[in-house]
Amino acid sequence: MHKKSIRDLNIRGKRVLMRVDFNVPLDEKQRITDDTRIKAALPSIKYALKYDAKLILMSHLGRPKGEVKKELSLAPSAVRLSKLLGKEVKMMKDCIGEEVKEAVKGMKDGDVILLENLRFHKEETKNDENFAKELASLGDVFVNDAFGTCHRAHASTVGVTKFLPSACGFLVEKEIDYFDKLIKNPDKPFALILGGAKVSDKIKVIENMLHKIDFLLIGGAMAYTFLKSRMKSIGNSKVELDKVGLADDIFKKARENNVSIFLPEDNVIAQEISAKTKVQIVGENIPDGWIGLDIGPKTTKKYCSVLKDAKTICWNGPVGYFELKPFRKGTTEIAKFISKLKATTVIGGGDTAAAINELGLGKKMSHISTGGGASLEYLEGIELPGIVALNDKWS
Ligand code: AMP
Repeated sequence: MHKKSIRDLNIRGKRVLMRVDFNVPLDEKQRITDDTRIKAALPSIKYALKYDAKLILMSHLGRPKGEVKKELSLAPSAVRLSKLLGKEVKMMKDCIGEEVKEAVKGMKDGDVILLENLRFHKEETKNDENFAKELASLGDVFVNDAFGTCHRAHASTVGVTKFLPSACGFLVEKEIDYFDKLIKNPDKPFALILGGAKVSDKIKVIENMLHKIDFLLIGGAMAYTFLKSRMKSIGNSKVELDKVGLADDIFKKARENNVSIFLPEDNVIAQEISAKTKVQIVGENIPDGWIGLDIGPKTTKKYCSVLKDAKTICWNGPVGYFELKPFRKGTTEIAKFISKLKATTVIGGGDTAAAINELGLGKKMSHISTGGGASLEYLEGIELPGIVALNDKWS
């Protein structure tokens, strides 16, 4: 990795301004329902505290769009972090201003402060220079450990780097290590599993990855646009008719690159998207009035036989409508199968990560990304602004 990590900074006794991702799900009473993201930041937080840093944490939560919204306060995260660390985490009423400056001035080595939701200020998402400067004035060094926002050029991800020595935290470092390897020198054979709702969301990923992979396994709703381009009947399945031509181009490019594309050979179908609906399994062709909602058992078996020999597997997008039990089997079986393989398994964030965590298989994968959008952009070959902005190792 060519970017500086927290290990490369001199942080002993320094004020460490750290961007974390505490964008956690809350219930209607503002109780945290899943603290995975807070726990994910612990290695960097504990490392900074081990070196007696004065730690100033900042994050966004939800989309308050520049307004103070009480229900989107980070206060519950301060309480949870305090419990996890077994020490006080002082919650601020704002992320900038006199009160914050005074509190930072009064910090002792090993103290932790959590700033209030950055997006209560519209300047955050606008990457406003003065706002970034104010944030930066709170620290001696900057550490970015929020991979989920690295694809956004915001004040707390990019703006602050103009004013402070900047490095990544352990979480971002791990993400970069895995994704860089996928993009630059993956162990072969390399299988890419793509599913989810739309071809249009994944098209750039396919274009960028096609000459790096050996197998492309397609599932989810996007499979039906590809099946349509192969002249199959797709009934009432979700389809993007304007992308059928693009699917044709992808087959052509795949042939040129010696990449094998696999499409569902059988499908779990239903007449409506509901948990109680009657389901059937059919082959490649789906009758009128029926919707393809999961890959069938024959396809699952076939996909597993391809994945068995892969040395690298990257997966983005569930292969069925996994939120409903009747259409969860394909995603579940593939997840269980790859969890037992020796291959490097990298799971994109968002729905795929949620599905795998729900199955309790998170720890069995080599890497589960903490950023849905960020991981997709990485695979699209886009350099993430929040990472580009960090100092190079040898600078
Ligand atoms: P994405 O965010 O693009 O990864 O899409 C994930 C969504 O695609 C999930 O909500 C899935 O339920 C949905 N999905 C997967 N397969 C299908 C399908 N066959 N028909 C409709 N939606 C699907």
